[in-house]
Amino acid sequence: MMNLLHDISLKPYNTFGIDVVAKQGFVELRCASDYDSFAEYISQNKQMLDHLFILGGGSNVVFSGDYDGLVVHPADPIDGGIRLLSSDGDICMVEARAGVVWDDFVSFCIRNGWYGLENLAGIPGTVGASPVQNIGAYGREAKDVIDRVHVYDLWHDSQCWFENSECHFGYRHSIFKEIGRARYLVDRVVFRLASHFVPDLSYKGLEEAWNSIDEHEREFVDDATLMSMTVRKVRNSKLPDPKYIGSAGSFFKNPVVDGDVYRHLKELYPNVVAFPAGDNKYKISAGWMIEQCGWKGRDMGEAGVYEKQALVLVNRGRCTGSDVVALAESVINDVYSRFGIKLNPEAIIV
Ligand SMILES: Cc1cc2nc3c(=O)[nH]c(=O)nc-3n(C[C@H](O)[C@H](O)[C@H](O)COP(=O)(O)OP(=O)(O)OC[C@H]3O[C@@H](n4cnc5c(N)ncnc54)[C@H](O)[C@@H]3O)c2cc1C
Repeated sequence: MMNLLHDISLKPYNTFGIDVVAKQGFVELRCASDYDSFAEYISQNKQMLDHLFILGGGSNVVFSGDYDGLVVHPADPIDGGIRLLSSDGDICMVEARAGVVWDDFVSFCIRNGWYGLENLAGIPGTVGASPVQNIGAYGREAKDVIDRVHVYDLWHDSQCWFENSECHFGYRHSIFKEIGRARYLVDRVVFRLASHFVPDLSYKGLEEAWNSIDEHEREFVDDATLMSMTVRKVRNSKLPDPKYIGSAGSFFKNPVVDGDVYRHLKELYPNVVAFPAGDNKYKISAGWMIEQCGWKGRDMGEAGVYEKQALVLVNRGRCTGSDVVALAESVINDVYSRFGIKLNPEAIIV
């Protein structure tokens, strides 16, 4: 039986801390039978597909107001939700349920000697969202470790596996995002991890932090744990901790422009921060442009631009969705007036 709850505040379910409700109810999924009951409900109420939002940890979502539909939330599983499927000495196949908290999963794997997730430590959210978003940090992406993804196809009342190559992984992108409205409900993900730890230091800032670790510290903590601790430390110096400051992480995408546009910009602003993006294109740092427009550390209403990282919008206290949207629009307009480049949100505005 599906447990449909009403008038539940979504404030604890989104890291921005926006206080809204889902007008047509809220459903938590904790075990396999909850997923089955929910899929059964949708198959009998297909009209709900137009008014359905799958909410994981709510760490990349901004609710602009009460949600005019039903919110379904894969929650922390009753049974822990993580199991080792196989291990052949080099490779471990590990399955995790969608509602498992991502960072708990990372720590659990390291404790059990299953490696490959260390650089992704500290990312908020759930395991279920990791393939949807193809989360990434410090030179690693979820696609590097995901073997396959199991979903409920809510349009066709069926269940299926997507192999890694079928997931259409790209930069913070996957097939699960391609269709604008809810179709695929991820219920579990299988990861291909390694039995031996090899540090991935491809990200320069991380290599510096890793090399500066005290020898004394190395004696007492194993390398994989030390790596995840280093990653969390580097992250905390730049990003707000959702426990204390509400945000949705990087709010804007870094825009990619043609080589001509980049060269013109470089003439006007020799210190522009940009990275080659292949195919004669350049990724311009949105944070740099926002900072140049004087927004870093500034507030508008109860929403603000984070003082340590201009790409992040934060909740200054009692922020509403409209505060965030109004601030985002002002930032977008100012950046466009000054640089002629339109910023797009990375956060999902619902
Ligand atoms: C402080 C901070 C730092 C961050 N740093 C990073 C970072 O370094 N790298 C990075 O990649 N991201 C980062 N993020 C963004 C965010 O953590 C990721 O996008 C994360 O994967 C979102 O997970 P979630 O469970 O909170 O998903 P939500 O925000 O709830 O949802 C995100 C999207 O996934 C869909 N979804 C969620 N669960 C499922 C499911 N089970 N089945 C189908 N669809 C689903 C939702 O419908 C929505 O479209 C950061 C966010 C914050 C607040």
